[in-house]
Amino acid sequence: MDLSYILNELGEERENYFNAISPPIIQSSNFAFDTVDELRNAFADEMSGYLYSRGLNPTVDILRKKLAALDAAEDCLVFNSGASAIFCGVLANVKAGDHIVSVAKPYTWAQKMFDVILPRFGVETTYIDGTKIENWHAATRSNTSFFYLESPNSWDFQLQDLRAVAGWAREKKIVTLIDNSYCSPLYQRPIELGIDMAMQTATKYISGHSDTLGGVLTGSHQMIKKIFDSEYLNTGCGIQPFNAWLLIRGLRTLPARFDRITATTQRVIQYLKTEPLIQQIIFPLDPSFPQYELAKTQMSGACGLMTIVLNVKNRPSIVTFCQNLRHILMAVSWGGHESLVIPKCASLQDSEFDPNNREHKMVRLYVGLEDPEYLIEDLRQALATIADV
Ligand SMILES: *Cc1c(COP(=O)(O)O)cnc(C)c1O
Repeated sequence: MDLSYILNELGEERENYFNAISPPIIQSSNFAFDTVDELRNAFADEMSGYLYSRGLNPTVDILRKKLAALDAAEDCLVFNSGASAIFCGVLANVKAGDHIVSVAKPYTWAQKMFDVILPRFGVETTYIDGTKIENWHAATRSNTSFFYLESPNSWDFQLQDLRAVAGWAREKKIVTLIDNSYCSPLYQRPIELGIDMAMQTATKYISGHSDTLGGVLTGSHQMIKKIFDSEYLNTGCGIQPFNAWLLIRGLRTLPARFDRITATTQRVIQYLKTEPLIQQIIFPLDPSFPQYELAKTQMSGACGLMTIVLNVKNRPSIVTFCQNLRHILMAVSWGGHESLVIPKCASLQDSEFDPNNREHKMVRLYVGLEDPEYLIEDLRQALATIADV
């Protein structure tokens, strides 16, 4: 399906709403029925029609169709956050006594689920270095029912070989879910590579304007129906119509924003490579990236998120750099219009800082929609202030 068709037309039945270009926000909790039989059918299968907006809602459905198509998936659910998409996707597929294999250091709230919540229900998780397929083989036990992937991973952007992990999981009848937030379906389509479920936060690139949260889960009809009938309806964490409308609006410009951010990111990287205070740039589609060859086989782009390792001896140098940025803001998240940094040392005291620990010197940089020169100038002047520390 054409990307332009998906983003501009798919799911939009404009003749039903006065040929309005922008879809209506159907801000209604419930829907009326003419006959008792129709009501009975809706009770029997909430996915068959509009009954109550904790289940299906027409505005949300437009978004679901577009997001499923972007992933080349059969179906999709949209949640109120990426965290709830992860929660429901995992919970629906494990039971007491099961074992999960996850990449090391997955997204914070995935890890909290594995470490804090699931053990209370008898589900154990093993973390592995997911870069090597042998590690997936070795960690698989007779009770392993779930593989959790995140590729590229946050901060160091380690990849898993998606085709290889998916192939092994299918052989062992293990369900796979990937956090695809870094690439989004524009730059990586995991379901086409054999992964069962693709999750992404819509808060980042899809929203694109730092003004709403959302989370996406795509997969087969069967898988999505299973999650809808149980975890989705039970937790009530589906996206609200207005937020869905914001995400539809975000989708319209997603490819244009990706093009712009991808081009600006290349300019910023070129500049950073000339700076002696930058020890390393970690970016999956840079030839210096350890898994560059694999990245090229499963990703078609890498957009605006990178990690820079500063060539400094103490924490105050990093603090100085971050606090002297005039335009690039310091905040969590990414994918919006605004460029951002977040230093790893925000979770360290000065005394805990180890200059030989590469991680301590990491600053994650997100390149937004600003002019490249504007950003480069800001980085240049902030790096210059480090010399004074
Ligand atoms: C932000 C993020 C999430 C969670 O998404 P929310 O919408 O904030 O709940 C999950 N995975 C990654 C990699 C993220 O960056």
